[in-house]
Amino acid sequence: MISQPADSHPCYRGRLAPSPTGYLHLGHARTFWTAQQRAETAGGTLILRNEDLDFARCKPEFVATMLEDLRWFGFQWREGPDCGGPNGPYHQSERRAFYQSAFEKLRDANFLYPCTCSRKDIQSAVTAPHAADDELIYPGTCRSNSALRTSHSALSWRFRVPDGETISFIDANLGPQQFVAGKDFGDFVIWRHDGIPSYQLAVTVDDAAMQITEVVRGADLLVSTARQLLLYNALGLTPPAFYHCHLMKDKTGLRLAKRHDALSLRTLRAQGSSPDNLRHRWA
Ligand code: GLU
Repeated sequence: MISQPADSHPCYRGRLAPSPTGYLHLGHARTFWTAQQRAETAGGTLILRNEDLDFARCKPEFVATMLEDLRWFGFQWREGPDCGGPNGPYHQSERRAFYQSAFEKLRDANFLYPCTCSRKDIQSAVTAPHAADDELIYPGTCRSNSALRTSHSALSWRFRVPDGETISFIDANLGPQQFVAGKDFGDFVIWRHDGIPSYQLAVTVDDAAMQITEVVRGADLLVSTARQLLLYNALGLTPPAFYHCHLMKDKTGLRLAKRHDALSLRTLRAQGSSPDNLRHRWA
């Protein structure tokens, strides 16, 4: 079991970590606003990090619009891709060396194993139900296939979770949380077969390197937080505190996503909404 450190950081550092895969919507803005307010209340620093690792999904034009929409809404960060800072670079695509070294550390300490399974393989092997929102629980097909370690083909690398271990943390918004490794989530990808570090690895490495003291993010990432706590532990890093926000839903109860163009900041702005009005709406 892993618990949060009480208050081991001298000064609050929060972050906004958008991925430029589409236009930001009102749901992002609400979570980010909470992040900004918590940093302000604590008299701390807010950092902007561009999470643009997935080349196929992240587009340069979305980076520019993301920065513009954030500024329009009233976000102010002290460190970021546009203004620099002591913990850069602030584009994940420029931070590969950090991820590579964490990956090697995990691999050399035997926390990882190579895997040849495609998403389709996993889907057909998985019989247990899984949360619709989250990745499939990996059935462990390649866990003990040591021959793969010397293979030269494109492989992904997975983190072997300690089956049955309960990962606990106190969420600053939602209270005590606990997830069981192997039941609520399975062995997860650290390094993708296409050579891209996974979200779980990159976000953990960056939050630690940028000395983030509290991560504010959507409640859809609660299980990911449990995975990341295992990574902090395996890498010998101190985890931040966590504050997960309730997700914004549309009229039919569906969680807002980038496909909800009508609620993108771009569209709302073009229709004459002001950031103040939008904030009143969610209040
Ligand atoms: N880039 C991730 C996203 O947009 C960040 C999630 C996080 O806050 O860790 O979903």
